[in-house]
Amino acid sequence: MSNMNLIIKKEEEMLAYAASLAHALEGSAIIYLYGPLGAGKTTFTRGFLRGLGYQGKVKSPTYTLVEPYHVHGKMIYHFDLYRLIDAEELEHIGIREYFKFDTICLIEWPDKGFPLLPAADLACYIAFTVDGREIRVEALTIQGQEIVKRWK
Ligand code: ADP
Ligand code: MG
Repeated sequence: MSNMNLIIKKEEEMLAYAASLAHALEGSAIIYLYGPLGAGKTTFTRGFLRGLGYQGKVKSPTYTLVEPYHVHGKMIYHFDLYRLIDAEELEHIGIREYFKFDTICLIEWPDKGFPLLPAADLACYIAFTVDGREIRVEALTIQGQEIVKRWK
């Protein structure tokens, strides 16, 4: 199950799109973010966090691998695995702990974390186009399908 490919012309539109997804979320979710450098994965995450009500800064966790956010009693973890050389590094940051509880995880470059990451509920693909970005979100689990249903 997937929604349509959407053209997103401006950063503001990407922020709003991600915020609307955040509004459709209930409970936990694992979200994989795919796309080349500069596509808008971190921008998407920023919009998502703002949608949940987070007001502060959202910086790319390129060097730290993960940045935690505490929003309205919920933990949200933003991963960026771009610099990960060996998936074993994830063991060192205690990767399994992050996915144990009722958390929301947004993961950039998830392919680098294979096979230590849990399966995604949603996969979001962002690509460059002539007039901005093209985005597609796919539901990969029942839980993901329910989120997409509420989203529309
Ligand atoms: P990534 O995390 O995928 O490497 P970032 O979100 O850090 O990418 O950077 C995306 C950059 O592209 C930002 O500087 C943002 O302002 C810019 N940008 C321009 N147009 C868009 C758009 N339509 N959607 C998302 N970002 C956009
Ligand atoms: Mg990024």
